[in-house]
Amino acid sequence: MIKLAAILILLICLNAQNKKYAIAIHGGAGTISKEMPDSISAKYNQGLKIALDIGTDILKKGGTSLEAVQAVIVNLENNPLFNAGKGAVYTADGTHELDASIMDGSTYACGAITGVTTVKNPILLAYKVMTQSKHVLFAGSGAEKFADEMSVERVKNSYFDTKTRFEQWNKSKKGTVGCVALDMSGNLAAGTSTGGMTNKKFGRVGDTPIIGAGTYADNLTCAISATGSGEEFIRFGVAKTISDIMKYGNKSLKEAGETVIFKILKADDGGIISVDKEGNISMPFNSLGMYRAAANSQGFETVKIWE
Ligand code: ASP
Repeated sequence: MIKLAAILILLICLNAQNKKYAIAIHGGAGTISKEMPDSISAKYNQGLKIALDIGTDILKKGGTSLEAVQAVIVNLENNPLFNAGKGAVYTADGTHELDASIMDGSTYACGAITGVTTVKNPILLAYKVMTQSKHVLFAGSGAEKFADEMSVERVKNSYFDTKTRFEQWNKSKKGTVGCVALDMSGNLAAGTSTGGMTNKKFGRVGDTPIIGAGTYADNLTCAISATGSGEEFIRFGVAKTISDIMKYGNKSLKEAGETVIFKILKADDGGIISVDKEGNISMPFNSLGMYRAAANSQGFETVKIWE
């Protein structure tokens, strides 16, 4: 009888231990001035905290990492403070071209879209590419045709206009939003969405819609979402390289991420958010700041812009 009770308690404890979740989000990395007025940094912190809470609530209730990633990114896309969806930066031609991608670490399924100009929430279309097509990446007008087939909401390009981004148009500005999550079933997912780089040339594609560069998830290692100078992140296949260093080099999440961010990339290229299969969180960046936040089932929570 006592033995049985002990076994039961052990099973309950093991089960509780498995019920771990973790989430990290970002709202872009770059030269974020420390002179920023408190009233503005408070707005960013508040935006991050609202998005973080949305994801945390989903995971806490047993929702999937894919659900959390999408809900967080939709919220950040709808917040004009961030360079994704509403608030996307201007291209050199004075329009907005959006990119997004999502990946399921349990199946390696992934979907991405690039150069869309009328899709309100690009992350939702990336999800449809992953789940409703046999392809991985749709571009431009083809992606928009696919949005209509999938009944994903489209808006006029002017919907993405904001006064702040207009004023920043001719200054170099990075942004992007992303989310990585581990759910209580042990599944990892990652997603990223962006308006790209301010003033980008026609047809320019960054790392955000490139699986393995800006986004990657593998249940055996980690989930990653990147932000920064997309060309560099593509050149070094940043997200997949971090996963590979863990997988084939037996390094921890922290070691693998820091190797790529501080040894392979150069100062001011940007950063990543990451979570591994154990629920560890790491958010290294080599720029002045990175809007970021994270939480886990052990009660840890953080919202930060600078160190
Ligand atoms: N990585 C994005 C791009 O190159 C921009 C950013 O993260 O700020 O399009």
